[in-house]
Amino acid sequence: MRPMDLVGVGVGPANLSLAALAEPLPELRTRFLDAKPGFQWHPGFMLPGAELQVSFLKDLVTLVDPTSRYSFLNFLAAHKRIYRFLVASRSGCSRQEYEQYCRWVSESLTSVSWNSAVEEVDLANDRTFTVRCADGRRLRARALVLGSGRTPVMPECAERLRGPSVLHNAELAFVDPEFAGRDVVVVGGGQSGAETVQHLLSAEAGLPRSITWLSSRLGFPPMDDSPFTNDWFTPAYVEYFRQLPSDRRRRLLAQQRMASDGVSASLLQAIYRRLYELDVQRPGRLRHRLLDQRRLVDLAKDGNRLSATIHDTGLDAIECVPADVVICCTGYRPEFPEYLGPLRSWLPRTAEGFEVQDDYSLAWDGPEGLRIFVQNAAEHTHGIADPNLSLVPWRSARILNSVLGYERYPTSQYAATVEWEGPGAHAGAHAPDFRLEEVGKV
Ligand SMILES: Cc1cc2nc3c(=O)[nH]c(=O)nc-3n(C[C@H](O)[C@H](O)[C@H](O)COP(=O)(O)OP(=O)(O)OC[C@H]3O[C@@H](n4cnc5c(N)ncnc54)[C@H](O)[C@@H]3O)c2cc1C
Repeated sequence: MRPMDLVGVGVGPANLSLAALAEPLPELRTRFLDAKPGFQWHPGFMLPGAELQVSFLKDLVTLVDPTSRYSFLNFLAAHKRIYRFLVASRSGCSRQEYEQYCRWVSESLTSVSWNSAVEEVDLANDRTFTVRCADGRRLRARALVLGSGRTPVMPECAERLRGPSVLHNAELAFVDPEFAGRDVVVVGGGQSGAETVQHLLSAEAGLPRSITWLSSRLGFPPMDDSPFTNDWFTPAYVEYFRQLPSDRRRRLLAQQRMASDGVSASLLQAIYRRLYELDVQRPGRLRHRLLDQRRLVDLAKDGNRLSATIHDTGLDAIECVPADVVICCTGYRPEFPEYLGPLRSWLPRTAEGFEVQDDYSLAWDGPEGLRIFVQNAAEHTHGIADPNLSLVPWRSARILNSVLGYERYPTSQYAATVEWEGPGAHAGAHAPDFRLEEVGKV
């Protein structure tokens, strides 16, 4: 069995982008494995009406190869809807249509295998990786790209009661709890929390009796989607961020949170308006409480019901709220994949996660010549854009270039508008020379 040059584990948007960019390269033998029966994008939380939070130009390929046949625009053209899309969507795109697009790409790629859950990766005697799937199939590879995504996180007190009435938003469509006439607590004031609340409010006949929505922050703040902030989602920013000391990176990430964790302003507006209309037109139909600076700190069974203990962090006070259903919209985090267990001792890690190098390969104490790359597990080293779709093709191109050993796709020397730290520290193409000279004189 001749080893593959590269095996990808998981086929979400990240590794699908890599597969699409690798497809025109006959010199590279690749295989991409996913546990699911076909492409699905966060299927437990694919709510009707949810919008993609980035431009459709940030698709799987366009920003590194606008000529690729796997672009979103080509998908629209192939389906004869490019004109209607422009009229219907202006600059936006629904999450459902983005999923259709990804499925279309995945169906054109012969390198993708579905129903292929990876159970274990180990070393073979002749110094290649052996990838073992749940059905017993084995593949050998010289490079691995981990694209198996992040894990939903719930507060410990809710995790203990996880089931039909206590769930993470990632499993909303699978658990499908009854909401009509019931008391629902939504934990989390970010985009997932807002989409969950909007989903509850949109059920005309099946409205809950009450919705209690908790935000740990001050208010229910919008995502910062302004132009200079969006420069943090560019290759130039990754290159700047990457060379900072780790404590500086940690502080920056904390300061930048609202560029990724806030709610899109249009969704906040829609929720506010719907609550207003319900209050004005159907008073008493839905009780709603929006509680900011509040955290869920305990959850207990109370007969057939639940009792949620909530900490008001502003007043340092405790309140108990009865509920039938609690939905935790409390985010996702990268975890050490179980299938990598046999390689654990060769992979040095810090408190924040893997030690990830410039080219997204992991620091590796194992045999030479083998490499493991990561998708969506390098926020602590490569910056706030890492879990986002914005740099998916660029990151894939970086990984491909590194596996190939030459620059097949251009990935450096992009300009930025902001000079992030100190004159000349980041000299983008727009940095005028005179500024450097002026500062030099002082
Ligand atoms: C609901 C939701 C909406 C989002 N919307 C946006 C957005 O609008 N804009 C944006 O920029 N970002 C968005 N994000 C953030 C991010 O872009 C997505 O999470 C994106 O899906 C990450 O892609 P991925 O390929 O890394 O992982 P995933 O999409 O999570 O894919 C991982 C894949 O790995 C497979 N897998 C896992 N374990 C194994 C295994 N052992 N063997 C084989 N296969 C395995 C899974 O089946 C899955 O298909 C969103 C995130 C969520 C949760």
